[in-house]
Amino acid sequence: MRTTAPGGLAASLARLGTETAFSVLARAKELERAGRSVIHLEIGEPDFDTPLHVREAAWKALQAGQTHYCASAGLPELRETAAGYFRRTRGFDVPAERVLVGTGAKPFLFFTVLAVANPGDEIIYPDPGFPIYESAIRFAGATPVPLPLHENRDFAFDRDELEALLSPRTKLVILNSPHNPTGGVLSAEEIAAAGRLIADTGAWVLSDEVYSQMIYDGEFASIVTEPGMFDRTIMLDGCSKTYAMTGWRCGFAAVPEPLVDPLVRFFTNSTSCVPPFVQHAAIAALEGPTDEPLAMVEEFRRRRTVVVDGLNSLPGVSCRTPAGAFYVFPNVAGVPLPAAELAARLLEEAGVAVLAGTAFGEIGRDNLRLSYANSQENLREAIMRMRTFIEQL
Ligand code: PLP
Repeated sequence: MRTTAPGGLAASLARLGTETAFSVLARAKELERAGRSVIHLEIGEPDFDTPLHVREAAWKALQAGQTHYCASAGLPELRETAAGYFRRTRGFDVPAERVLVGTGAKPFLFFTVLAVANPGDEIIYPDPGFPIYESAIRFAGATPVPLPLHENRDFAFDRDELEALLSPRTKLVILNSPHNPTGGVLSAEEIAAAGRLIADTGAWVLSDEVYSQMIYDGEFASIVTEPGMFDRTIMLDGCSKTYAMTGWRCGFAAVPEPLVDPLVRFFTNSTSCVPPFVQHAAIAALEGPTDEPLAMVEEFRRRRTVVVDGLNSLPGVSCRTPAGAFYVFPNVAGVPLPAAELAARLLEEAGVAVLAGTAFGEIGRDNLRLSYANSQENLREAIMRMRTFIEQL
């Protein structure tokens, strides 16, 4: 019997990007299955266990039957708890009705862009930047407007450049501090300057603050408390990074009132809700003891020293000291290989999985991105493997 093969994909798929970290991870796992040793510095997730009291809270909720559908906006208890967390960590009051819970921070990125952008609208986003920003912007048919971050300023933007990029067509400005992929942290003055410039426009702001609790030098500042920003800012945080809960999929955001209903509708149309036992675990994370998250940050601080000193000791490599998150974005222009080829060969030949800077935008063509969410011992071994590889070039 002859049948017709299914075929035809949506043209819009050509505009949907991806996150290279997941494909590099897959290749690294393949090499490991073939018996090779690989040090994982590619994927952006804490290598610590989720704190025990959080796992216990989930178990208790499972036993209590918290295993059914629940409200797409999130459990009222978690929305209250997250509002309290925002008050404690940012010093501003948001009513729980404006706090939404999603399956990680990622859906907020995608759905916010879909909720505000019409084809032709411009969206400003950091370059280099988390690749999902550009993917979502292109998918929505909006115009991506990259805001360069400058290595020689520890990856801050230039205020004049931001001012020049803002236009009547700017629908949304995405900020991310502490920053993936560079570890850069915007200072209070830079945040205030961005707030003053954006206040004169009709743009929404999406402030991606998923690394807000991972700061080593200086202070965390959020644009949401700048004049005129509260009613235009989607302030996004989540459990993934702070509490080593990447696989639980729970993020939350304070959302301007006009965006509450659209975002809830996106959740209802896609995931329905975050599993209620996960939301109970998130409440335990946000309300529970802080010793484990704090110890994690202290260990990241020590690893930062190991990785930055190690990279700076390699021929042709220079690395800024990042003030937050758990990434470094070393410049490898002095190595006699293009950065993308260096990244590929470090994995295949030296057993060190890193990402090419271009995974985060063309501006990263001279850089690699390393996540230092790995033990000090493995970080030292990775530096040794990199040295051996680079010295024989
Ligand atoms: N935003 C940034 C800047 C990230 O680096 C990540 C994850 O790597 C996310 C958002 C997504 O986090 P989540 O696990 O909460 O979806």
